[in-house]
Amino acid sequence: MNQGKGAATPAGSAEPVRLHNTMSRRLEPLRPLRAGEVGIYTCGPTVYDAPHIGNLRTFLFEDVLRRSLHLLGYRVTQVMNLTDVEDKIIDGAHRAGQSIAEFTAPHVDEFFADLAALGIEPAEHYPRATEHIDGMIELIEALIEQGYAYTAEGGVFFRIDRFERYGRLSGIDLSQVVRGERVADDEYGKDDVRDFVLWKSAKPGEPSWPSPWGDGRPGWHIECSAMSRHFLGETFDIHCGGVDNIFPHHENEIAQSECAHQAPFVRHWLHSEHLMVDGEKMSKSKGNMYRLADLRQRGASLRALRYLFLSVHYRRKINFTDASLDAAGSALRRLDELRFRLEHVAGGGPDSTADGDAGGEEARQSDDRADATGFQEVLDALRRDFRAALADDLNLSAGLAALFRFVKETNRRLEAGLETRQAAAALAALAEVDRVLGVLDPEAWLEPTQSAAAWLGDAEIEALVERRDAARAERDWTEADRLRDELSAAGVVLEDTPGGTLWRRS
Ligand SMILES: [Zn+2]
Repeated sequence: MNQGKGAATPAGSAEPVRLHNTMSRRLEPLRPLRAGEVGIYTCGPTVYDAPHIGNLRTFLFEDVLRRSLHLLGYRVTQVMNLTDVEDKIIDGAHRAGQSIAEFTAPHVDEFFADLAALGIEPAEHYPRATEHIDGMIELIEALIEQGYAYTAEGGVFFRIDRFERYGRLSGIDLSQVVRGERVADDEYGKDDVRDFVLWKSAKPGEPSWPSPWGDGRPGWHIECSAMSRHFLGETFDIHCGGVDNIFPHHENEIAQSECAHQAPFVRHWLHSEHLMVDGEKMSKSKGNMYRLADLRQRGASLRALRYLFLSVHYRRKINFTDASLDAAGSALRRLDELRFRLEHVAGGGPDSTADGDAGGEEARQSDDRADATGFQEVLDALRRDFRAALADDLNLSAGLAALFRFVKETNRRLEAGLETRQAAAALAALAEVDRVLGVLDPEAWLEPTQSAAAWLGDAEIEALVERRDAARAERDWTEADRLRDELSAAGVVLEDTPGGTLWRRS
């Protein structure tokens, strides 16, 4: 089977992509500064605790973005900062009697472990704020020189009434904000919201860095302006984050960078929506602020969690519930079953109609050709529709719909008998789709072990499989499905072949 078609896009021929731009509130074509290459800055974690699943949703959306751009033929340079100096970190390190580096090290490790556990590809750069203090000081100096910033008690502040475009990203009307009112929980902000802190003077005993304005530490916002410039330049293609970053964090990044450089900052802003838990916003007080460790403890499948996150468009809220996670698990079982059957045929199992006896060879070859042509259309439709969905603002819901049309059609053809090479081509098409999804290979995922009650011995599995075969023979599909689910829950994958039902442990 020709695997060439659509399997790899030559460098320099990236496919057109439309993405929603938070700044214009419209879908816009992505026009990278350098053809075929995209620079992406993604706000990273503050490393004083493990990320909650709402943070992870944002990181997963960014993973889908980079994987989609790769599949569509772009080169990607992604930068994600680690905020390793911040009030909570300083407090935590102080209480633990540790240095900032000692205190943050295990949280950094935990963060990377969580990303890996969700199949998130590593970014090209993970700079730490404490490694870029010089760049931040340079930026602040440029802002002071041009009259955009001033020193005052407590540090250096940005004077936002000098920046007319302030508020364009979020649409916030600052004239409605009473001077002195706190509108956001910005630990570095003065009580006067209209100006925000760039450099915070150190209190006695705090970790600090020397600066022209005395010892202190940078504000959170200036970190991202300095690190994005260092890796991507004054103007770059895409900046991402969660919607809660829009104000004040991203507004402040824009103000700092555009005033310091007198150049546009970001061409395309992308923001992912919130994750809700059981229909409610996550919060510590409600006790619904889950981390991966909590989900693991509950025996949740992280593979299903990734699938659930993928299945909802990034600009829509996800409602995380046990039922939504179960539904994701069921969808994955359908995909696993197809993959198992295809692997069986591709490996020359009883479904295979290829390379058989010599009798009727000519007639069968012509049948195969007809069927092969038809199946090529099925393969092409998956590749075409999946790519088109990604290019349309990362519309993975449409991409998954294309995938399930493929599953249905391929299952139908498996019933009729699929050739070895067709099965191999189908597996190759799934592997291509999985370059973005990252969930289709069950062996790449270490699932938490099933509970002991779900464990079945071979004889019990055989008995259940026989009962299911009997139900199918009587066309009792409800009972047959129920038995399949029961086996599935115990980690048994079934394959229905013309010669009977095969099973294996997943
Ligand atoms: Zn940021």
